[in-house]
Amino acid sequence: MELLRPSSTEEASAALGNGSVALAGGTELVPLLREGLARADRLVQVSAVLPRGVDGTTIGAGTTLAELEADPEIPQALREACSLAASPQLRSMGTVGGNLLQATRCWYWRLGFDCWLHGGEKCFAKDGAHREHAIFGNDLCASAHPSDIAAALIALGATLRTTKRQLPVSELYRLPTADDRDVTTLAPDELILELEVPKPEASTYLKAMDRRKWSFALVGVAAARSSAGVRLALAGVAPIPWTLDSAAALDDSTPLPGTAYKVEIARALVRRALESTSPK
Ligand SMILES: Cc1cc2nc3c(=O)[nH]c(=O)nc-3n(C[C@H](O)[C@H](O)[C@H](O)COP(=O)(O)OP(=O)(O)OC[C@H]3O[C@@H](n4cnc5c(N)ncnc54)[C@H](O)[C@@H]3O)c2cc1C
Ligand code: SF4
Repeated sequence: MELLRPSSTEEASAALGNGSVALAGGTELVPLLREGLARADRLVQVSAVLPRGVDGTTIGAGTTLAELEADPEIPQALREACSLAASPQLRSMGTVGGNLLQATRCWYWRLGFDCWLHGGEKCFAKDGAHREHAIFGNDLCASAHPSDIAAALIALGATLRTTKRQLPVSELYRLPTADDRDVTTLAPDELILELEVPKPEASTYLKAMDRRKWSFALVGVAAARSSAGVRLALAGVAPIPWTLDSAAALDDSTPLPGTAYKVEIARALVRRALESTSPK
């Protein structure tokens, strides 16, 4: 495998695609390559050329989760989502751009089962062990999106600037279909450069986990209040980060037998998040 070290984002994006894959902190990509779950002929090391740091409401995609959780200028929901993610070591390497693009933690997928998301015929989780899986959007694949940070950014109404376009973070994701089983809309040669994160009037991120630390969300709830109202987004409940129009929308969930408990957790967290962001 070749390692390319471009000297600019233009050079980096020109090198991407056709078997060349971006490498930022490597906390997700390197294990996937090692397990044979991702393939790359060339790695394009983008960490040195990606914008990094916080400037007003703009965040460079190469900013680490550790840098975001420590910055008082960052809205509370995003700081909390970062501080509750992974471990301190992973947060000091992992970037916000890489976090948004992490793959599912579904163990069938991670163990290389020939499941639907890997291009096979069947979702093994639906008939098998699925305690940590989805309650929404689980028709074809019942995986639960693991990014706390994506849920926080969607609730905050953040947008992304890539080498090709500007888009709301929510539009980075799509439910997989039979024709296209990808869960993101990012092109293979597209780099995320920056995020624009509006300042809310109030925001929070609440996360239910099996352990108090270093655990993926069973359910994560982000809420942000702005002059337009309160926006809610959830982690750990659907194959993609899930926007919730209101608390009542939880009545429309489609849990599996083993994930019904998540609906009750989500109700409780949504209630608490709405209370904590309501005007005092
Ligand atoms: C044990 C463990 C526990 C974790 N727990 C949590 C958790 O609780 N909550 C949570 O939210 N996350 C969790 N994570 C995920 C972690 O936060 C991510 O692995 C990390 O943020 C990824 O960033 P990175 O820079 O290392 O990405 P990399 O591994 O370098 O890249 C990840 C993917 O993104 C692509 N990529 C990276 N940057 C860009 C860019 N700028 N533009 C386009 N493509 C890009 C890469 O090509 C690759 O496909 C956990 C990870 C591990 C390993
Ligand atoms: S939930 Fe998705 S990733 Fe997991 S086995 Fe089913 S199809 Fe595969």
